Amino acid sequence: MSALTIRNLRKTYANGVEALKGIDLTVEKGDFFALLGPNGAGKSTTIGIVSSLVNKTSGDVSILGYDLDRERALAKQRIGVVPQEFNFGQFEKVFDIVVTQAGFYGIPARIARERAEKYLRQLGLWDKRKNQARTLSGGMKRRLMIARALVHEPDLLILDEPTAGVDIELRRSMWDFLIGLNEEGRTIILTTHYLEEAESLCRHIAIIDHGQIVENTDMKSLLEKL
Ligand code: ADP
Ligand code: ADP
Repeated sequence: MSALTIRNLRKTYANGVEALKGIDLTVEKGDFFALLGPNGAGKSTTIGIVSSLVNKTSGDVSILGYDLDRERALAKQRIGVVPQEFNFGQFEKVFDIVVTQAGFYGIPARIARERAEKYLRQLGLWDKRKNQARTLSGGMKRRLMIARALVHEPDLLILDEPTAGVDIELRRSMWDFLIGLNEEGRTIILTTHYLEEAESLCRHIAIIDHGQIVENTDMKSLLEKL
């Protein structure tokens, strides 16, 4: 069973924009997978559909064997999503944001607090735990999003442009953190418009352009072709 299977996925927005024109994608368990493409290619739309934030027009999506239409709640239990926009309450405190998220998954409060501590420490945010989210830098907010997405210990972590606007040093340490999560056995999918990021991290890559997958290969073969 794969971590993610997408079959003939289409999305046409209300304004008539055909953001996805029938894409197919399979990501195996344990993989570190990049979805690479220019702005407007359809990356966020794909992530949005997989994370149930955007409704698809047609096609099939299954997450760890759970069909997104018929078994959505089960699918959502198994994935963590880091969208591009910061979507936590700016006046909420860092620690509370992570613990509250755990509540959505029915995780008991004591375990939620332990996990919030674990991930906030790993991501270098423990000192900020009592601060309101609005006081954090952009890079810290990004890391807070990652901590929140991990609190239910998902098997599949999906990140939309995780290092956009993050400076080079912090980008390195975020990369190392993601590599560590993958080595623990988590499947990771990230979007990027930046080949070097995909190259540094990922084993497989799909290139999306104008709503279509134009390449789907392992990183080594792609680099030999370029
Ligand atoms: P990417 O993440 O690769 O930059 P998106 O998935 O955000 O691409 O966008 C794909 C296409 O869909 C673009 O043409 C974009 O303008 C359009 N689009 C994205 N979101 C919406 C929306 N909510 N309503 C209408 N069009 C949208
Ligand atoms: P509701 O049941 O009210 O629609 P959801 O369960 O969809 O609420 O989402 C509650 C909050 O958790 C939202 O802020 C949403 O963005 C976020 N969320 C939902 N699913 C995930 C996920 N798999 N990973 C990370 N955040 C998620």
